[in-house]
Amino acid sequence: MISIDNKLYIKDIDTYIDPFFPVERAIITHGHADHARAGHKHVLCTPATSEIMKIRYGEKCANTFQTIEYGHPVKIGKIKVTLFPAAHILGSAQVLLETSKQRVVVTGDYKTTTDRHLDPFEIVPCDLLITEATFGLPIFKFNNPEIEIGRLLDNISKNKENTFLIGAYSLGKAQRIIWLLREAGFSDDIFVHGSMDKLCDFYNNKGIKLGTLRKATIENKRDFKGKVVVAPPSALKDRWSRRFENITRCYASGWMQVKQRAKQSQIEIPLVISDHSDWNELTNTIIQTGAEKVWITHGREDALQYWCKTKGIKAEPLSLQHRDETSEL
Ligand SMILES: [Zn+2]
Ligand SMILES: [Zn+2]
Repeated sequence: MISIDNKLYIKDIDTYIDPFFPVERAIITHGHADHARAGHKHVLCTPATSEIMKIRYGEKCANTFQTIEYGHPVKIGKIKVTLFPAAHILGSAQVLLETSKQRVVVTGDYKTTTDRHLDPFEIVPCDLLITEATFGLPIFKFNNPEIEIGRLLDNISKNKENTFLIGAYSLGKAQRIIWLLREAGFSDDIFVHGSMDKLCDFYNNKGIKLGTLRKATIENKRDFKGKVVVAPPSALKDRWSRRFENITRCYASGWMQVKQRAKQSQIEIPLVISDHSDWNELTNTIIQTGAEKVWITHGREDALQYWCKTKGIKAEPLSLQHRDETSEL
């Protein structure tokens, strides 16, 4: 049996998955800060994740990187490790740990909906599934993102005096929103916050066409009339946003399905667009992997644990430290 504990430490190969503290050997599922940290000795991940880590933390953020493509196994000791697409952000991976006797899958963050700028999510059959559950409540059921973008574009066309400030995480969500706008035919220049321009360049260089992007640093407020500005959610409230007039605040997040939350944050256009799975995606994935046992991390465990029980699947919550359950990374 593969020995893996609640810190996602695999004893047999002295390796952690997404450790929050510097370790000798780490497998990193994706570049978000609550999964990828600087300071590990040896990191195994996809090529895109290693590039993202270097952009965010510097070239020397790990002593060595070993990158493997999706579906190409590598043998570490007695365990075969393979990464599969998680369709969460560019480079995001599920981790399959495999021996002749057992298959363990750690999903990392994932979504299963088709999203043409990312490799599609793959179901990886396994005995033990360690799944995220950020939106693990039956109330979470996400619309097609095109519907949400359509609503935004409709608003933009009717309010030419306003500046549409969209809160979206700098890595993954911001680029997805811009990509969705382009797919919907929006060809105007889009302004981006300084914290995301390198990551937008990275996506562009990977062939994900984001169109003309400009830094939102221009002094003349009139330049932003009728324009779209994409910024991290924290920037919506701070001094940075004072450079704009007639702001319409928008926020792209699965949490926007909770109306109260949109209201509290004074969001006029909540965009229910998530890079995580909703309830149906989580439960369908559990069924399709055929897992006999499920460990639930990263969010709402109770409802999913109960659901598993009703299906005769053993399930346990796995509390990982340092995870903010209200965030969506
Ligand atoms: Zn996460
Ligand atoms: Zn993430």
